Amino acid sequence: MSLFSSTAVFRRITDIDIKYLNDNNIKTLLLDVDNTLSTHHGTVLVEGLTEWLKLMQDNGISLVVVSNSKDWRIKPFAEKIGLPYVSLACKPLPNGYRKAVKMMNADKKTTAIIGDQIFTDVLGANLYGIRSLLVRPVKLEDGWSFKVRRYFEKKLLKDKF
Ligand SMILES: [Mg+2]
Repeated sequence: MSLFSSTAVFRRITDIDIKYLNDNNIKTLLLDVDNTLSTHHGTVLVEGLTEWLKLMQDNGISLVVVSNSKDWRIKPFAEKIGLPYVSLACKPLPNGYRKAVKMMNADKKTTAIIGDQIFTDVLGANLYGIRSLLVRPVKLEDGWSFKVRRYFEKKLLKDKF
């Protein structure tokens, strides 16, 4: 397993079900925002997200938003979906994940992150030593830096999607 390997790959966050989490003893989820819960810098939630969040919480899964974005963006977003959050997480550095685990009083062993980027979300999880569930980005971003990252991600993922 490399630092760039996720524990599992899903198409959408809403494809992750309670059975999978129970079978794998996952009790806390650290959620990326851009392209995982919404479009990049968007405020439009992924279809079915509100119901999915409720389903998770009804089944005792703890949820916390962990994003590299600034507070002014993440705070209203987290409030909108009613979740605690860590902004400016500096993924792939483990600091934000560490903070979120502490905030939720969670156990690293029963915690996983959900995110759409290998070089931030997944790498950060592996550096911190927790599991990672990679989802397909909601909508691909414009801009060269994203294009470069997505190109290398594609190579790493090969035919996983
Ligand atoms: Mg993202």
